[in-house]
Amino acid sequence: VICAAQDFDFFYFVQQWPGSYCDTKQSCCYPTTGKPPADFGIHGLWPNYKDGSYPSNCDSSNSYDQSKISDLISRMQKDWATLACPSNSGSNFWSHEWDKHGTCSESVLDQHSYFKTALNLKSQIDLLQILQSAGINPDDGFYSLSSIQKAIRNAIGFTPGIQCNVDESGNNQLYQIYICVDNSGSNLIQCPVLPNGKCASTVEFPSF
Ligand code: 5GP
Ligand code: 5GP
Ligand code: 5GP
Repeated sequence: VICAAQDFDFFYFVQQWPGSYCDTKQSCCYPTTGKPPADFGIHGLWPNYKDGSYPSNCDSSNSYDQSKISDLISRMQKDWATLACPSNSGSNFWSHEWDKHGTCSESVLDQHSYFKTALNLKSQIDLLQILQSAGINPDDGFYSLSSIQKAIRNAIGFTPGIQCNVDESGNNQLYQIYICVDNSGSNLIQCPVLPNGKCASTVEFPSF
């Protein structure tokens, strides 16, 4: 039996709250397709090692080719919206994510499967609905970090990683949520290692 070398151990599936990307000192730009929905958006699906390190830019001969995912673009515009400046359709973000992260899982997911897997995870895990069902709303209020973690753990069965950033007034706020997925991309798992989240014990959930 020949065993292929282990490329990576698991994926982080990372979603961002647009309100927290945009209300920072750096600000943001809406995509050319218009203001994204007031919902979590995909940041990326990132191959990772159990020790917390990760591979990147694994195959320059397999660079982003949007013609391979033309059937997914309308879903990407809604669920994987770019907020970086200058405004663009999203291709800059998607190509960055494929080239940096996607090429490191190409042994299990080709380009089309990679983007489709992320979109399907997003449909499967409705973070905004999970939080709102627990009374945690994007209403510029402050919530305990533990209540956010607990709401997600109760809904998906695993503890998420939570990452915060800082708004223009210096408030610590909910920015990104990390959920772990096995290295086939099909099953949620408990994270082998949680990202360093820089959250205070109470965090703002800003409107968008
Ligand atoms: P930041 O420094 O803003 O947290 O992350 C910058 C970039 O580094 C991210 O967009 C992502 O591409 C990569 N990155 C940061 N932390 C991790 C991690 O824990 N795992 C992986 N796979 N990539 C990461
Ligand atoms: P990472 O390297 O951390 O996976 O991805 C971050 C890179 O993607 C940055 O270079 C950033 O400019 C670009 N980018 C484009 N749109 C977005 C967005 O909506 N959110 C984030 N976090 N990064 C974006
Ligand atoms: P990158 O250098 O990879 O584009 O981005 C580095 C970090 O800055 C990332 O964590 C990304 O989220 C953030 N960033 C990049 N561009 C923007 C921007 O236009 N607005 C905001 N708010 N953050 C950005």
